[in-house]
Amino acid sequence: MLLTKHEAAQKWCPLAQSEVCMADGCAMWRWAPIINPSNGARRFMVADNPAAKTEQEAGTKPEHCHGWEFHPCAEDPAGWIEPEAAANRRRRGYCGLAGVPSL
Ligand code: SF4
Repeated sequence: MLLTKHEAAQKWCPLAQSEVCMADGCAMWRWAPIINPSNGARRFMVADNPAAKTEQEAGTKPEHCHGWEFHPCAEDPAGWIEPEAAANRRRRGYCGLAGVPSL
């Protein structure tokens, strides 16, 4: 069962018997690979002007990208990237005591 840290903290720990899971605060916690935004990958929103070198040239910043960092066009198109801390809240892992879940 893959869980975020917040979800794991709602689960009973079979070792502690009366405590909830400590997630990444426990040596048995394992992180699942980051493979897409639903599992902790940072989201990226391409700008209306993907060749923009400045945020002013990029066009209107989408409402849902508030707080996201602008990246100018280089090898990739210009756009906004989600903060790492926000993506980490969606990252999932599992208790290593129960084996590796199917991913
Ligand atoms: S990772 Fe497993 S052993 Fe560690 S606190 Fe959570 S449920 Fe308990």
